This record gives sequence, C-alpha cells and structure tokens, in this order.
Amino acid sequence: MKPSVVVVGSLNQDIVVQVEELPREGETLMGIGMSESPGGKGANQGVAIGKLQACVSMIGKVGSDPHAASLMKSLQQAGVDTRYIMTSNRPTGLAFVTVDRAGSNHIVVIPGANHELTPEDIDSQRQAIEKCEIVVLQLEIPLKTVEYTLRLAKELGKTTVLNPAPAQMLCDEILRFVDFLIPNEHELQSMSGMTITDASTLQAAARVYLSKGVRALIVTLGGKGCCYIDHERVQTYPARKVKAQDTTAAGDSFIGGFVAGYLKYHDVDLAIELAQKAAAITVTRHGAQSSLPTWEEVAAFDL
Ligand code: ATP
Repeated sequence: MKPSVVVVGSLNQDIVVQVEELPREGETLMGIGMSESPGGKGANQGVAIGKLQACVSMIGKVGSDPHAASLMKSLQQAGVDTRYIMTSNRPTGLAFVTVDRAGSNHIVVIPGANHELTPEDIDSQRQAIEKCEIVVLQLEIPLKTVEYTLRLAKELGKTTVLNPAPAQMLCDEILRFVDFLIPNEHELQSMSGMTITDASTLQAAARVYLSKGVRALIVTLGGKGCCYIDHERVQTYPARKVKAQDTTAAGDSFIGGFVAGYLKYHDVDLAIELAQKAAAITVTRHGAQSSLPTWEEVAAFDL
C-alpha cells in the first residue's frame, strides 16, 4: 500500500479584504479589494500536501451550501481524497481575513460545520486512519475530537503531527500522543503561558512539552525560519531569502511541506528543507490555497 497522510481538520471559505494598513481598535477603514477563496487550516494543509504529490485524504465537515462545493473542488484539484468529508446541518465554516500592503494579516473564524466534527465521526471514518502513515491535526475543530484522534492514531501506530493553531491550552494527557508539535512563536507563548523573548526562553517553553511526552517541536519563526528541538538536539534553520507579499498560509505551507517531506524521506532535516522552500514560495504570492506551490515549483526553487 502507498504511504499516505490523513488530515483531520477544518474547511473554511476565506473572505479576504485588502487594506492599506490593518485597522486599529475602533477604526473604520475603506478596503481596496475583496475576494473569496477556499481555506481553513485543515483544507489548506491537505492541499499543500496534495500539491507536493503526496497521497493524502481529509476527514472534516462542511455544510450543504455553495461554499462546500468550492472547498471540495479545490481539494480534489490538488489530488486530495475527499470521500471522508461529511456534511452537517450547520453552514460551512467562514474565515474573514484582512490583509495589508505589507502582507500582515488579521483573521476571524466562524467555525460552523467544523465544530460539529465529533469523535463518533472519526470512528465512522476510521478506515482512513488505519490505512495511513501520518495523521495531521490543527485546533480549528473541537478539542475533544483532536484528543480522540491523536489517541486513536497512536493506538494504531501512526506518526502524528499537531499544529496547535489557533493556540489553546492542551491537557497533558494528549501531549504524549503527539510526535511533532509545530506551533509558531506566538502560539508557543500563548499555549505555554511563558514569555518568549529569545532562543533560551523559546527552548525553555519547548522543553515543557518534551517533558510531557511530545517527541519533537518545530517552532516556526516567520521570516527568521524555524527551530527544531527534541531531547537530543536543538537546531535553528534560517528562512529562505525572498520578498514577502502576503504571509497568509505560510504556516500551512510549512506543515504541508514538512509532512510531504517526512513521508517521502523519513528524515527531519530534509523534511524541514522542503517545508521552508514551500513556505518561502507561499509568502511571495497572494492568497491561501492558490499560493501553495506544486512539487515542480519547489524542486525548481534554488534560493
Ligand atoms: P500564517 O499564520 O501567516 O500562516 P504562521 O505564523 O503559522 O503563518 P510563520 O512562522 O509566520 O507561520 O511562517 C512559517 C514558515 O514560513 C517559516 O518557518 C518560514 O519557513 C516561512 N516564512 C514565513 N515568513 C517568511 C519570509 N518573510 N521569508 C521567508 N520565509 C518565510
């Protein structure tokens, strides 16, 4: 059987508004453009992995509305197997994204159908998890479903990747079911409650999670790259030098690259190299799923 990935997570239609500068508290601004596109951390990571030619399927929930059709189409175009995506009575999730000229963004998510994904649903799609090698999760679906899936995946001997976004406190019980925990710096700070100001405070926060049973952390650092930490080593990898246009989906692209790379090479360094190349290409383009690179584009990228 071909090695494969299952992404268990959210699907959101992104409503993107472009502005000159992000609004301050209480401020009303005129936008300079608006567009709709498929997104959601789960779907974005599924598309990122599919575009990198890895065999990937997705478990999630959408409503029965036109947004769902557009999300499914985008996944299928990227080669993602959508047969495990279920339909709910609630509307498809929506994400309202505001992005400025410098590429910085604010995002508000209305979860809708994503919050209807239950542990029973995971059981109903258990064959997808049984067949795969790597299970990938984020935190845009109910925490109890994330916990249940991680436990099931480890019982079945799978490699697990958790992108703890948006950040939430995670109970100790589930951390021992996580092989790779991949937060950004802000998420690590917020979930650990520790102030991160430099490399040593970042490592101290990461070590809390290692002590609770996580196998390794990769903390993404935006334009500074990322830091890998496990019980044996700490290594910083500088980012590829590119001119960032829009950082939307940089994290999802990184996760997709890491997972596709790990599935292919079973080597952390090679997986991080692929992740950083994919994410660097993503930040040079506008949009979420449309900015995720193909395998050919990553292979041709030599910065
Ligand atoms: P987002 O929420 O915007 O999707 P994130 O905050 O989860 O992203 P970041 O830490 O900002 O994730 O970025 C993830 C990865 O993307 C970084 O580790 C790096 O490899 C790449 N990246 C981000 N910004 C840049 C940049 N300006 N230049 C090159 N690479 C970048």
